[in-house]
Amino acid sequence: ASLWAGVPEGPADPILGLTEAWRKDPSPAKINVGVGAYRDANGKAFVLPSVRKAEAIIAGKNLDKEYASIEGHADFRSAALKFALGKDLFKDVHAATVQSISGTGALRLGGEFLRRFHRKPEVALPDRTWPTHDKILNAAGVSTSSYRYYDASTISLNFKAMVEDLTQRAPGSAVLLHACAHNPTGIDPTQAQWEELAQVFKTQKLLPFFDMAYQGFASGDPSRDAFAVRHFVQQGLHPILTQSFAKNMGLYGERVGAFTVLCETAAEASAVLSQLKLIIRPMYSSPPINGARIATHILNTPELTAEWEGELKLMSGRIIEMRETLVKELKAAGSTKNWDFITKQIGMFCYSGMTAKHVQELREKHSIYMTSDGRISMVGLTHANVGALARAMHAVTK
Ligand code: PMP
Repeated sequence: ASLWAGVPEGPADPILGLTEAWRKDPSPAKINVGVGAYRDANGKAFVLPSVRKAEAIIAGKNLDKEYASIEGHADFRSAALKFALGKDLFKDVHAATVQSISGTGALRLGGEFLRRFHRKPEVALPDRTWPTHDKILNAAGVSTSSYRYYDASTISLNFKAMVEDLTQRAPGSAVLLHACAHNPTGIDPTQAQWEELAQVFKTQKLLPFFDMAYQGFASGDPSRDAFAVRHFVQQGLHPILTQSFAKNMGLYGERVGAFTVLCETAAEASAVLSQLKLIIRPMYSSPPINGARIATHILNTPELTAEWEGELKLMSGRIIEMRETLVKELKAAGSTKNWDFITKQIGMFCYSGMTAKHVQELREKHSIYMTSDGRISMVGLTHANVGALARAMHAVTK
């Protein structure tokens, strides 16, 4: 028998598998609101004009294809951290930053670093989180637990329970926070709540682990979306931070990201960086260069940065507008439910409160595809399909 005869067929990825099923559906009315990659107003994949320009400039330079260093493109590493912290705060910190294989790779590095150097490698995740978080951390040998975050009965943040749970954590515990545009719920703490959370982290001596996958993509304003991270750092906390340029620069397949450990001294940052290199070398040796060159060029060229900021407003604005249209269309379809939470949520996703049964019915009767938790990727919506989605949502929830 073949060596692999006993290998069982694994389940499809719960999110990426949806597109597969959608592709196979012969219905001309089918709608894919499963996967989170931006689509323009006509439902087409979108390459940012600022990215196209940066690409052309880079191509014109006839650069070589030598390996990046283990820690990645030097200018990219500082540009990415400066983008996260803002230029003033950036000057004040001691940081170990490495380029990563987008946000996923940054999270994996976070896990690997914690497993090696944290006395208790465990990360508390919000209850409701991106379903890949625990898989990435567990694969790195880090255990995961959860703290209360989402209140299903009100489709909002249960801030009191969140604080209660964090207050019970042992000093030093790592706690994962979505820096902005919480995935899947679209529900973020307010700025006042972030301030209160920073106090909790300080008094309890917790380690903030920020996952920032949507900076600038949520509100259209990168500084506003970075409020939580910057505030925590200003308060003297030393978070670890993962960044992704997949959404905000539309660089999905280029895999551009960064992983940072904020340290107390320069010597500490240097030692941490040396250890991150030891983690990276046997894993993938060094990161890809092309996407990092594009991102660096945009971040370090003021005219292109300005153009890109306009594109961030365009993308986030289209999502905000589709939220308003979806609520209008639900009312027009005859729904008398209160859907106001849809416009209160922020970022790529609308957490609809629909159950797995509703989602199944949407798929079987209406050829509408979304994750079983009722998460609607707003970027899959256009003026051409939002009415049909609203009518179907009303039909299954009335
Ligand atoms: N964290 C969160 C919360 C996300 O939603 C995503 C993208 N879906 C990521 C990290 C990482 O994505 P990527 O690896 O494509 O940067």
